[in-house]
Amino acid sequence: MQRKAWIGGRWADASSGQTREIINPVDGSVLARVPEMSADDVKQAIAAARRAFDEGPWPRLPARERGTMLFKIAEAIRARAAAFAEADTRNMGKPIVEAEFDVADAAHCFEYYGGLASKIHGETLEVPDTALSMVMREPVGLVGQIIPWNYPLLMAAWKLAPALAAGCTTVLKPAEQTPLSALMLAEILESLDLPDGVVNIVTGDGPTAGGALVTDARVDKIAFTGGLDTGRLVIKGSADTIKRMSIELGGKNPNVVFADADFEAAVDGALFGAFANQGEVCSAGSRLLVERSIYSRMLDALSEKSKRIQLGDPLDRQTKMGPLVTREHQQKVLEYIDIGRREARLVVGGGIPRDSALAKGFFVEPTIFADVDNRARIAQEEIFGPVLAVIPFDSESEAVRIANDTPYGLAGAVWTRDVFRGIRVLKQIRAGILWLNTYHPTYNEAPWGGYKQSGFGRELGSYGLEQYLETKQINLNLSEAPIGWY
Ligand code: NAD
Repeated sequence: MQRKAWIGGRWADASSGQTREIINPVDGSVLARVPEMSADDVKQAIAAARRAFDEGPWPRLPARERGTMLFKIAEAIRARAAAFAEADTRNMGKPIVEAEFDVADAAHCFEYYGGLASKIHGETLEVPDTALSMVMREPVGLVGQIIPWNYPLLMAAWKLAPALAAGCTTVLKPAEQTPLSALMLAEILESLDLPDGVVNIVTGDGPTAGGALVTDARVDKIAFTGGLDTGRLVIKGSADTIKRMSIELGGKNPNVVFADADFEAAVDGALFGAFANQGEVCSAGSRLLVERSIYSRMLDALSEKSKRIQLGDPLDRQTKMGPLVTREHQQKVLEYIDIGRREARLVVGGGIPRDSALAKGFFVEPTIFADVDNRARIAQEEIFGPVLAVIPFDSESEAVRIANDTPYGLAGAVWTRDVFRGIRVLKQIRAGILWLNTYHPTYNEAPWGGYKQSGFGRELGSYGLEQYLETKQINLNLSEAPIGWY
């Protein structure tokens, strides 16, 4: 099926006529073709978004009306929930049951920011003068939004909803591998008559289409989610025109299990933390730190239970792990598994599943390495696949030291029944998202983002809205006397 990009309220092809094949990772078949846009095509979208911001109704609408539009988007997503879930599952391989959660979350994200739209407000300040100082919040302007492939619809929702609530206009570039659900979202925006140019969705590769957003002076802000190396390029490129930036990068997140934890819950949490969404999750608990006294029992339990994780067609409701997103990514993960074989002890998994029914898909077995030294590459580098590195520790202070010893600082968890120790350790982990005795629950209400090289700025919650607002002071003179300086 031939799809089009969405620019200035119209469906658009690439001016070159070039297209890209969108692949189903379960069998390598072609799902659709989308325009492969050039930098000039993206500039058209930037021009449309600029016009919509500078001259269009959207930033000038009463906030309540913007909120109502977001409620309608949420409703429309729910009305097409099954189609959205199927689109993401077919496009990137996540189990359909997980995709259904994503769709529900995406709808709620629009609703959450629909509610917040009318709660944007400034303040008045006492100043040492016969004057009143007023603080106003205004939309930051035209935002370039660049997202990854691991949660295609949800990442689009996390970007678009707060930007729209704030009164911004946007050009969104989905990952080149997974544009389909974002284009379905454009169909909803068309049916709801969102003013032309408020949201533009461009398809194309990172350096060309993404790069055009990063370098264009008309773009006021870049909101980027993706890998560390790309993040560095985006930050450098945005610096030339002093763009506002919010940057969400990867993680190598510690999941710390103390001996007194509820054992079964911790085993479950370790596996879900590492293997949900095939491990293609920025916040995945990809380093499991286990107190030495339960270490070998934990390894046995993990190995035993991980063998029961059902790989298969992600559209099958019984499937717990689908294929990885692309053949290239499968190869990258397999290379890390080879590195792991040299660095540590392979406990389970370690390759492509032997089941011939899966042969055409980009599958990788759930893989666990034990006795991992935290300095090993498989403990320091984000693999972004179903590979868990298990590391033993002997004391609370050692657990904290290892937990913090990577360049990243996105997420992590602690498992213990000792409430004093639990909170003590959580406070010492330098990361933006932490859990106690659970892993992964993510709430639209709570700020999402990283410390250290996991990025800066926060998405979600009221913190996420802040990133789309400028702050203006207006000083009102209350004295009729002239300044009288000269
Ligand atoms: P990626 O960095 O390869 O690509 C992300 C996006 O950036 C894509 O849309 C891509 O086309 C674009 N891009 C690539 N090169 C570019 C350039 N030179 N200029 C502008 N844009 C460019 O990442 P990916 O492989 O799609 O996604 C996986 C990464 O995303 C992982 O590192 C993961 O941890 C991270 N991630 C982070 C979060 C978070 O919230 N912190 C959430 C999901 C994913």
